Amino acid sequence: MQKNQLKDLLKDFGNNVVFDQDLKKKNWFNIGGKSKVFFRADNLKDLVKFLQLLNNQERIFIIGAGSNTLISDDTFDGVVIKLSKNFSRISLLREDVIISGSAVLDKKLSEFAAQNNLSGFEFLSCIPGSIGGGIRMNAGCFGKEFKDILISIQAIDNRGNLITIPSKKINFEYRNNDIPEDLIFLSASFKGIKSDVQKINSEILKMKIEKEKNQPTKIKTSGSTFKNPVNQTNKKVWELIRESVSLDTKFGDACISNKHSNFFVNKGNATFKDMKKLIDFVSQKVFEKTGVKLDNEIKILE
Ligand SMILES: Cc1cc2nc3c(=O)[nH]c(=O)nc-3n(C[C@H](O)[C@H](O)[C@H](O)COP(=O)(O)OP(=O)(O)OC[C@H]3O[C@@H](n4cnc5c(N)ncnc54)[C@H](O)[C@@H]3O)c2cc1C
Repeated sequence: MQKNQLKDLLKDFGNNVVFDQDLKKKNWFNIGGKSKVFFRADNLKDLVKFLQLLNNQERIFIIGAGSNTLISDDTFDGVVIKLSKNFSRISLLREDVIISGSAVLDKKLSEFAAQNNLSGFEFLSCIPGSIGGGIRMNAGCFGKEFKDILISIQAIDNRGNLITIPSKKINFEYRNNDIPEDLIFLSASFKGIKSDVQKINSEILKMKIEKEKNQPTKIKTSGSTFKNPVNQTNKKVWELIRESVSLDTKFGDACISNKHSNFFVNKGNATFKDMKKLIDFVSQKVFEKTGVKLDNEIKILE
């Protein structure tokens, strides 16, 4: 739709709809251009109304914490939706079941679980994303993934219909699942195991120390760039990269972290093109040297 048409259609949403929103500050890489429309959804009623007005006529991208997303420098010809306020709540449903809004950060859910003596959520303290992004990615670390604690998801399709999906109906894989791409997750319920807060906190501390030892922190990155090629080799992707590419390879300010070769870093003013070139270059070199075809873990919005 033309911008003028959209301005007219979406006028009731006030400041929650922004045209030509700069997306650079909305993702960990600090890379990206603008989106034609950016919508901050404060509550479900607004979100349903917004989707019904759009009536499936625009491309929609839902952004969580932006810790796994690389965004093009060109204007995204569609709508980026960010869930806020009412999607950021956590509550205890039963003594071992938590309901969390999908905009809640993983770390917050991990803290909430610990405060309620629930184990199983410790790994979330090490993932900088949101619950929505974690479900989409089946994110995980230290041998645990979202699928291990998830009971069900409440979601909405791009016409505003609400759906509940039990976890057992979903096929989860390593950093993937078969949930339809057009669903927006609203909230999810998770099951924990009764434990003791001190035991949980000491496990969290152990994980954090281990993570800081092996992975860079406080940098502009999206974490692991590629998935580990589990079906092709026993080697981890960082090993394949080290074998195949000089670690000082860079395009503009897009570099490879010297602490973890699968973490790519924006050292300053890297553009989308720089980062994409680095990703394609590394992938090509790994293939030439080892015959392994790498699959992106990060999501690319163009
Ligand atoms: C320093 C660092 C360390 C990391 N460590 C790990 C790790 O140990 N393990 C791991 O698995 N990952 C790790 N990551 C990657 C990233 O944090 C995870 O993939 C995280 O789950 C992404 O969540 P997000 O909210 O940031 O998602 P985004 O980057 O915002 O989005 C990722 C995908 O999820 C979709 N999405 C987001 N919210 C919703 C929603 N509500 N409904 C539907 N779809 C949605 C987006 O459309 C997109 O396709 C790391 C990243 C960084 C920067």
